[in-house]
Formats: sequence, structure tokens, C-alpha cells
Amino acid sequence: MPKEEVIDRTTGFLKKNLETIPPKKRFEYLNRKLRGIVQYAYRHSIAMKSKMDSVGLKPKDIQTIEDLEKLPITKKTDLMELQKKNPPFGGFEGASIRGLRRIYVSPGPLYEPGEIEYDELGWVQGMYAAGFRPGDIAINTFSYHMVPFAMQMLDNSLFKIGCITIPTGIGNTEQQVNILKNLKVNAFCGTPSFLLNIAEKAEEMGLDPKKDLNLRVGFVAAEMVPESLRSELEERFGMMIRQGYGTADIRCLGYECMEKNGMHIPDDKIVEIVDPETGKQLDPGKTGEIVATTFNKVYPLIRFGTGDLSILTETPCPCGRTSPRLLKILGRIDQATKVRGLFVHPEQVNEVASKHAQIGNYQVVITRKEHKDEMTFRIELKEEVPQPEKLKEEIERSIRDVMKVRGEVQFVLKGSIPEGAKKIEDQRTWD
Ligand SMILES: [Zn+2]
Repeated sequence: MPKEEVIDRTTGFLKKNLETIPPKKRFEYLNRKLRGIVQYAYRHSIAMKSKMDSVGLKPKDIQTIEDLEKLPITKKTDLMELQKKNPPFGGFEGASIRGLRRIYVSPGPLYEPGEIEYDELGWVQGMYAAGFRPGDIAINTFSYHMVPFAMQMLDNSLFKIGCITIPTGIGNTEQQVNILKNLKVNAFCGTPSFLLNIAEKAEEMGLDPKKDLNLRVGFVAAEMVPESLRSELEERFGMMIRQGYGTADIRCLGYECMEKNGMHIPDDKIVEIVDPETGKQLDPGKTGEIVATTFNKVYPLIRFGTGDLSILTETPCPCGRTSPRLLKILGRIDQATKVRGLFVHPEQVNEVASKHAQIGNYQVVITRKEHKDEMTFRIELKEEVPQPEKLKEEIERSIRDVMKVRGEVQFVLKGSIPEGAKKIEDQRTWD
């Protein structure tokens, strides 16, 4: 194993040519891959063929990412329904079940055709960008049972980078601490909250996570890591933590680089941000549903609706990767509300509130006046402030920054907002 001091974890690329390709060339590359998978899926996946037939599309009608708009979005509930009608995979599989190495089971239950050979790029790119390097000893604390994430996706990705994996799975925190210590483990895969458990358990056992353990890098997923928790964990262990995002069906859809300014879309996926009501693609900067297309021939999901909301940016990233980025995951679409044609989510309301220490209870109320939506941010202040007008302006600026919609701040008396009130109260009537 190389000496620790000489490992460069902060620069470099897994696939430089692909990751730094000029954006226009990337579109051409992705369009080419798209045409290939559409043709393949039409021929080999019964469900994808009938989806295209239902709207009168032939493979030649989908030449570019823009053409994807013509194709209906497939949702998780569609997968479940079709699996019942046409078990086990609803006809979405693009390969014979006899050729599969594994079948995975996700909550639902949803049966997923596993791999013939693991060929996905996304998680490997993500771990490399997170600073994982050949020779690292990694614990993988995600569950190895039934679901594909730990065993199929991360285990294979660690192997592809050249890391040594300890398949610990979830739980047994005390034993995990001993493993970290005895095997000088320097890389962690798991949820941020489990890493926090490990820190607490280690301290309980009389260990200093920074001095007595060797963790240097962490790749977290399955729950978004709040910045406060990330810096606390990085400080406590003396390590770097980066996160990834994906789903069981379509695998990795985003990963952070050193810049921590959103999640790069891996080079083996197409991600659209769409209006979930119309399926139309939205411009960068607009909030919409993450809809993804994979080039995985075993399970060729084309236009899969994740149900998650995000915003895309194409602003160049200082790391040198030219792929667009998802600016954090804002939550589920079924909790979102549309205001003047734009989606707002309770998580965004919380984010605005977290930026101003003076805010106590708060609630957003949506009303409609003269056929126009109005958004009011009702706020109970913790205590009186010297310049309420100035604070009001500042909060209104945060609303525009975070929620991308103009809203008015209204300070209300303490106790006006009921305990347990909805974060977004929609009072519009449509008669
Ligand atoms: Zn970057």
C-alpha cells in the first residue's frame, strides 16, 4: 500500500476524456448512446416497446435528448402495476432472466433484474471524485440483503477503483468500530447518520475518532447530508465526506466533487428536469422532477420518473468536469406545490428559515388574488428586532434565492401559527 502522504485524493479524474469533454460534444455523445439504447429497448424490452407503440413512436423518432419529451414518463407505480400483470419484471427487462447473475428485491415489492456483468460508471466516478483511491480499505455499511445498492453497485464500484472492501452491512456499531481500528480502515460507505453513530460509539468506547481511527474519505448516500452534519463529521474524524444520489432501478444519478457545489451527472445517464404535470423539459435553474434514462441493456429504463425534485445547473464547475450538476435534492414531488407555474417544496421553506436566526415558527401560505398566485411567508420572530423592515427585505431576498419565486414576508404574533401546521398551506380555491 502506498504511503498515506503521497496519495492525492483531491485532483484527477476517473475518465478524464469523458469527464472534461466540451458540453456540445457531450450532448452528441449522449444522443448517440440514446439512439442505441432506444433501438435496443424497442427490440428487447416488451414494456418499452409497448410504451413507444402506445404513442405511435418508432426508434427513429428519438434522435436527441429533446425528442425524449415525446415519450411518456415511467413511474415506480407503473413498474409495480406492470410487474403484477407481467411478472417478474413487467416486461422492462432487456435480457433473458436465465442469463442474469442476480435478482434484487426492493420495497414495493419490486423485482429488479440484476446484472449480467456490472458495467455502470456512475458510482465509480462518484467514489473517485470523493477521493477514493486504489489500495484504500473500505467498509461498506449499506445493507447487503435483497436490495442492489451495497452488493451490486458499491461493492463492484469499490472493486473497479481497486479498493479492498469489508462488507460489514448495517448495524453492529461496536464491532464496526473494532473493525475500523484493527484493519486501519481509511474509507467509509454508508449513511451520514450511521457514521455519526460510529463516532458516538467510538467515543463511548474511549477512542478518539480522529487519533485512534484512520478514516480519510467517506462516500455517503441514501439520505442527504446537511452541511452542519458534514462539517461536524469531517472534523470529528479528520476526513472528507462527499455524497452521491441515485435510485435502485436506475443507479447513480449524481455525485459531488471536491467543490461540493451540487452533484455532477454521471456520463452514463441522461437526466432531464421536467414539469411532472406535462412531462416537458425545463430550463436550467427551474425546479422540476428528475427524470432519467440509463444505457443499461439488462434493465433499459428510458424516461424513468424518480419522483424527486431538483434544479439543474450547467454553470462550469471549477473542478474541470463539464457535466451538468443537480443542485441538491429538494424532496418528493407529491409534497410540492406549484406557485405561478414553479414548484415550491417544504424543504425550501425550511432552508429559507434556517438562514435567519431570528425566525421562530414559520409557515408559507399560498393564496390567489385576481387569478394570480400569492405566496406569503408568515413568521413569528423569536424576539423583537430593531429593524424589522431590513430583516423583512433580507428574508425576501433569501426566498427569491432559494425558492426561485417571489414571496412576501409577514411578521405575525407569537402563537399565530398553530403547532404542527403544514409548512406550505395551500388556501387557493379554483371556482
Ligand atoms: Zn465539480
